[in-house]
Amino acid sequence: AEKASVLGAEDMERVLRRIAVEIVERNKGLERVILLGIQRRGVYLAARLREMMKEAEKVKVPTGELDITLYRDDISVLADQPVVHSTSVPGDITGKKVVLVDDVLFTGRTVRAALDAITDLGRPERVQLAVLVDRGHRELPIAADYVGKTVPTSRAENVEVRVKELDGEDRVVICER
Ligand code: 5GP
Ligand code: MG
Repeated sequence: AEKASVLGAEDMERVLRRIAVEIVERNKGLERVILLGIQRRGVYLAARLREMMKEAEKVKVPTGELDITLYRDDISVLADQPVVHSTSVPGDITGKKVVLVDDVLFTGRTVRAALDAITDLGRPERVQLAVLVDRGHRELPIAADYVGKTVPTSRAENVEVRVKELDGEDRVVICER
């Protein structure tokens, strides 16, 4: 059941524009910057950031994707583990400034898996993290460099991120699981 609306379409547009500006500021431009969207909605968010950067800076930032999903093993006593299924990265990441883009940051395990995959691909100059929503409950020492909105949640809640490309609307809502 839907409990609260966190970001509407205009809010989402505004925070993504702000994140795009912050990425440009912190990297002193977009030279050697690469965006890597984490499936599924992170890929659409990365594409939006790329578009905004193209408008504002007239730079086409190379953009790729990482396909990471949760592997649920019901019989194992181990917690759910994120698994990297595939990577599609534009060129060599060595010496580049990689910005990972995801919709929601929760325990940090997906980002950890992304860092493992990146480490296998090359040696970037730095890796940063941009997320639309930080919902808390970190289980690893991982923080985002760029946050659209910090949304305190209980573990029983789910943050539903809707993007128009997949869901017909841009909106973030908190739902009871
Ligand atoms: P973590 O690995 O940090 O526990 O979870 C982050 C990953 O799981 C992200 O790729 C994100 O898409 C997904 N995720 C975790 N919690 C939520 C949530 O409440 N809502 C949505 N939409 N995705 C979540
Ligand atoms: Mg995800």
